[in-house]
Formats: sequence, structure tokens, C-alpha cells
Amino acid sequence: MNRSNGDAPYYNLYINGQWRAPIAEQYRPTIDPSTGETLGMIAQADIEDTRLAIRAAREAFDDGYWPSMAPGERSRLLHALVDAIEARQDEIADAEMRDGGCTWRKAHLLDIPVGLIHFRHFAKLADMEPLEPVPQITFPALSYNFVLREPIGVCGQIIPWNFPFLMAVWKIAPALAAGNTVVIKPATFTPLSLLKMTEIIHETGLLPPGVLNVVTGPGQVVGPEICTNPMVDKIAFTGSTEVGREIMQQAASTIKKVTLELGGKSPNIILEDADLDLAVDGSLWATFMHNGQACESGTRLFVPASIYDEFLERLVDRASKLRVGLSSSGDTDLGPVISAGQLRTIEEYIRLGIEEGATPVLLGKRPEDPELQNGFFITPTIFTDVDNSMRIAQEEIFGPVLCVIKYDGLEDAIRMANDTIYGLAAGVWSRDIETAVSVAKRIRAGTVWINDYHMINAEAPFGGYKQSGIGRELGTWGLKEYLEIKHIHVPLNNERSGKFWFDIVAPRTSE
Ligand code: NAP
Ligand code: MG
Repeated sequence: MNRSNGDAPYYNLYINGQWRAPIAEQYRPTIDPSTGETLGMIAQADIEDTRLAIRAAREAFDDGYWPSMAPGERSRLLHALVDAIEARQDEIADAEMRDGGCTWRKAHLLDIPVGLIHFRHFAKLADMEPLEPVPQITFPALSYNFVLREPIGVCGQIIPWNFPFLMAVWKIAPALAAGNTVVIKPATFTPLSLLKMTEIIHETGLLPPGVLNVVTGPGQVVGPEICTNPMVDKIAFTGSTEVGREIMQQAASTIKKVTLELGGKSPNIILEDADLDLAVDGSLWATFMHNGQACESGTRLFVPASIYDEFLERLVDRASKLRVGLSSSGDTDLGPVISAGQLRTIEEYIRLGIEEGATPVLLGKRPEDPELQNGFFITPTIFTDVDNSMRIAQEEIFGPVLCVIKYDGLEDAIRMANDTIYGLAAGVWSRDIETAVSVAKRIRAGTVWINDYHMINAEAPFGGYKQSGIGRELGTWGLKEYLEIKHIHVPLNNERSGKFWFDIVAPRTSE
């Protein structure tokens, strides 16, 4: 169990169905980025702790009943876990809000309820038929063939700080639904909602020990062990493209299956006939939701020259009304960014944008409100006169900074939209759905929203083209990333047995 020390509770590692202190007894605080307050002391695993978790997951997979459980039974059990989590969802939402600095509305109305819908969807998908017959290609059939779907094994999962609960669900739920065992590492900035969910799962007593293991600790220590340990069969990572590259290299030493959900610099394209009320607010939502700290944020806004002045006037007017404040206030539109380091990075990019020749028509500043002085706050920035080749238009800033790019002609917009190393998402705004769909088809990205943004559907795939990733999450596509496919062949008679070599491969010539 976790112990507490004064106001700050201590959180241990969850290994083999038990809470255990890290071998080196190291803990570090996790803080509220709105106030700087310490919310908890978090166990810092080292390589040995990580190995214990991996071994527990290996044994639970090789010797336990989880992988071979009847799909219907596994599905019922996962539904029961979701029921237990749902009953205490406000606790998780509060942890999410305070640990990661997301707004009350985002935590309580979006991330946790949506995460629960996604978890339930995988609980439903767990009840799939594991066996699929292969259509016969010869008649009469010479053999019976079928394909089995089987779990891959031990899944090592590493997640980021921007959507901690949702990312944990997107990793754990499909892995468990497919019958795998898991070692998951949350981001150092935001471990609390996953730990809270794990507490709830532990209290149900429903999961066999070792099926779910949670290892908190530094990515640069825990990560390489998960990615290189031969007992791990698959890596699922969400985070930066830079770390994704390292992970792929580390996983190569033992040819692990790898899925990666990485960065983005998504284009959001306004067409001339767009409904401007919808498109202006939609563009702000696309960029500034969670302060631009979303991988799919629509941070490159393409506006046609014919409506540019009017669009921009409305955009700046609406953006300047966004309320920056404590994440716990129900009125806040933009809470803090995740850390002091991230705040400095954003300010550095704003300085760079000005140096590159872009015009800050809205310039982000640290707010003067005394209540906000201990947190990491910055007001929104909108740059115009942006050229798509500038660094502010090509690099992921991960902050409330929007680059507006003027275009002449749709071909020009599509060419610039695709001129990026990323390909995670995009938006298109138009009253003419046929045209919007034709534009969507030409954008090299895994998700394209039309007259909408950030809407994630439990049944639809999410993931990146190009350097935004490998593989897909959610829906049946997400589940398949956690399954091995086995072909089994059964001959319908034994005529061939014992005489393969001589009679078939090298038939005897008559003597
Ligand atoms: P990050 O620095 O790449 O960290 C992500 C995770 O990797 C954290 O748990 C981190 O641990 C761990 N890590 C760090 N170094 C590692 C290493 N050498 N080996 C293995 N693991 C390591 O990313 P972030 O700053 O947390 O998150 C922001 C990034 O995630 C953005 O680029 C964003 O676009 C991307 N993202 C993508 C998606 C998507 O679905 N495509 C969703 C959300 C976020 P520590 O926290 O301990 O450092
Ligand atoms: Mg925190």
C-alpha cells in the first residue's frame, strides 16, 4: 500500500499485484503546475525495479491464465474494471486536473468520460471470436486452414504528460483486451491519474497478479530497460518524435513489435466558403485546447487571401477574450503549461518567430494576476506573415502559439499543408462537404476533421503518417496492434505424410 507523509502521500511501484517501495528508496515530488504545490511523492524506479516488473509480466503471461482466458470472460472482467473506475471518476479527474494542469472542464467533461468510453469499447472488443477460417482456394479442399488471433506477450508502454489518463487507457485497454500483460511507465510530470486508476483496479482484485504493472521513474532509466529487455515482446510509445527515434533503435536489438504515436504540426485549412463563425472558433479550439499541448493541435492555420483580413480580425478578437487562469476554476479556458522548462521553450519560440520575420498580432505574456505567480502561465500568441518554411511553422512548439499562413489558391494551400515531416492530423473548414472531402483525401495525415477538430472516436483509428508515428490506436485497428496472427494448417487426409521428399519434391523416375 501507499503510505503518506504529512500532506504529501507517497506512491509506490505496482509490481506483481502489490505496491512496493523502489529498491533504492528514491522518491520525487509531482507538482500542480497552476500553483507549484507538491501533490505527492512518486517512487523512482531504477533498472532493477523495472526488471522485477518485466519478470512479473512475463510470468503472468507464460504461466498465468490471463492470455488463454475465454474472450467472453475477459470482456466481462474488463467491463467490471470500467464500472469500478467510473464509480470513482471524479477522483481521477481531480488528480488529472491538478497533476497535469488541464482545466476543470477538460478533465471532468472530456478526458475522463471519453477515456471511460474508450476503455469500454475495448472491453467490448475483447469478446471477439479468436478463430477465423481461411477461405478454401482449391476444390475439393486438400487441407483445412484457419487463423488464430493470439496476444503478443509482454507489452512495454511509455506515455506522455499531456493526456495522462487517456493515453494510459489507449495503452492498457487494448493490450489487456487482447490477452497481453503490461508494464506501463507514465510521464514523470503526470503519474497521478494512472496511479489512481491502478489503485481502483487493485482494489477490485479482479486482475491476476503481474498482468498490469506500473513503473514510475525517469524515462531515460526505465525506458531503455523496457525497450531492450528480451522478455518484452512489444513496445507502445506515445511521446516526442525525438524519443520515438531512440525507442525504435533500442527495440531493434530484439526485433520487438513497435507502435509509435509521435509529434505533429497539423495544418488547419479554411476554404473561401467556410462558415466564419464556426471556423474562427474552431480554429481557436484546434490550436489552444490544452494550451496547444496536444500532438494533433492545428497550429498551422491556412487562410485564403480573399477572406484573410476579416478572418484575422475576428480570430484575434476572439483569442484575446480567452481566459487564462487556475486550472481548478470552471471559467478557465487556458490553464498553465506543464513546467517552467516548457514555459521557457514557448517564450524562446516566440522570440524566434519575431526574429524570423513573423508578426505577433497577439503577443503571449506571463499574466500579472497575483494568483498566477507560482504557476507556469502564458497568454496566447498569434503570428501572421508566417512562411511555411520558418522554424515556428515546422517545429512542434507545444504551447499556445498559432501560425497563420495566407494562401492564394487551394493547390498552394494543399502543397504547404503537406510540406512538413509530420502527418498526424488536419482540419478543413467549408460549407461544401464534397470539396472538403476532396481536400481531406489529399492531406497526408492519419485523421482529417471537416468543420470540427480534436474529436476522437472510440471506433475510428488514430495515428500518424510520416514521422508522426507507426501503427494506429483505437477501434479494431488499435486492437490488432496487440495481436499476433497464427496460421494453422491441417491436411484432410494423410496421403502425403512420410513421402514428401521422394514423391512430391523429387518424384522417383520409373526404375
Ligand atoms: P517525451 O519527452 O518524448 O516523453 C514521453 C515519455 O517517454 C515519457 O514517459 C518520458 O519519461 C519517456 N522517455 C523520455 N526519454 C526516454 C528514453 N530515452 N527512452 C524511453 N522513454 C523515454 O514527450 P513528452 O514531452 O512527455 O510529450 C510530448 C510529446 O508527445 C509531443 O511531441 C507530442 O506531440 C507527443 N504526443 C503524441 C501523441 C500522439 O498520439 N501522437 C499524443 C500525446 C503526445 P519522463 O517523463 O520520465 O521523461
Ligand atoms: Mg504534476
